[in-house]
Amino acid sequence: MVLRPRLYEPEPDLAKVALGRILDPIGVEHLRASVNTIDTDRRVVVAGGEEIGYDRLVLAAGSALVRPRHLPGKERLFDIDTLEAARRLADHLRGRENYSVVVVGAGFTGLEAATELAAHGRVPVDRRLRALPEVFVAGDTAAAPFDAEHTVMQACQHATPMGKVAGYNAAADLLGIPPRDFTPGPYVTCLDLGDAGGIFTRGWDRRVMAVGTDGKDIKQRINRAIHPPVDDASKILAAADRVHIELPFFPRTEEATTPEA
Ligand SMILES: Cc1cc2nc3c(=O)[nH]c(=O)nc-3n(C[C@H](O)[C@H](O)[C@H](O)COP(=O)(O)OP(=O)(O)OC[C@H]3O[C@@H](n4cnc5c(N)ncnc54)[C@H](O)[C@@H]3O)c2cc1C
Repeated sequence: MVLRPRLYEPEPDLAKVALGRILDPIGVEHLRASVNTIDTDRRVVVAGGEEIGYDRLVLAAGSALVRPRHLPGKERLFDIDTLEAARRLADHLRGRENYSVVVVGAGFTGLEAATELAAHGRVPVDRRLRALPEVFVAGDTAAAPFDAEHTVMQACQHATPMGKVAGYNAAADLLGIPPRDFTPGPYVTCLDLGDAGGIFTRGWDRRVMAVGTDGKDIKQRINRAIHPPVDDASKILAAADRVHIELPFFPRTEEATTPEA
């Protein structure tokens, strides 16, 4: 598993967590395969030519950067969308000094245009993250309502709790117990600005709460906090139950920004 928010760091391999250290302790079987077909009528997914049946399906295929196909010089572009791409950039920069880098489209405008366009390919779901009677969708793939005005962002602060809620609801549905709503915490943004520190904002109007070293400190705490517990089943299951991130920098006092019930 790769924690994509950490891929901008100089050593992208730190973003890697061995999935077996989370799934093995809690008795979850993991099959590594690339799914190319989902047949919701027959309730099967096809991976590498093999059909795998399901009672409930949670779709969480994430998002992927759209690379320009006909741009002259595109072979010289780098990105940090995946671990392999981030490694390629890190290897390219390793040991170099006095280099210049041009970042294209990394501002909020570029970001919002990209996420807006990406939203066109997302699967609409209800507050329980259900798309079809037997299919739940989570993460960047899902266009879930945040509140009456907003759809969730393609961001780990939404993707992570959505995964937990979608998994819970798929199991609850099979067990005949009530599902739970997806109730995201207040929307925040936190950017690492290198030597200039960092910036942390709250709310959809992005009120600045911390800058400079304080902002950087929050970013680094987030980067540590998003690492899941491994090897210990009780800690792994307890983390699966926490759908809100409770940390000192994330006070839940501004309840006005939480979604309507
Ligand atoms: C550089 C970068 C920085 C980011 N920074 C932040 C940040 O600071 N804060 C923040 O909130 N968010 C950030 N994000 C966004 C965040 O990483 C994503 O929102 C989050 O990873 C989405 O989680 P997900 O589980 O939906 O998808 P992913 O993490 O993309 O996981 C999807 C998985 O599905 C697999 N998959 C896809 N298709 C198939 C298939 N057909 N068959 C089998 N498997 C498949 C993929 O290989 C992948 O393992 C950042 C993203 C990037 C790239």
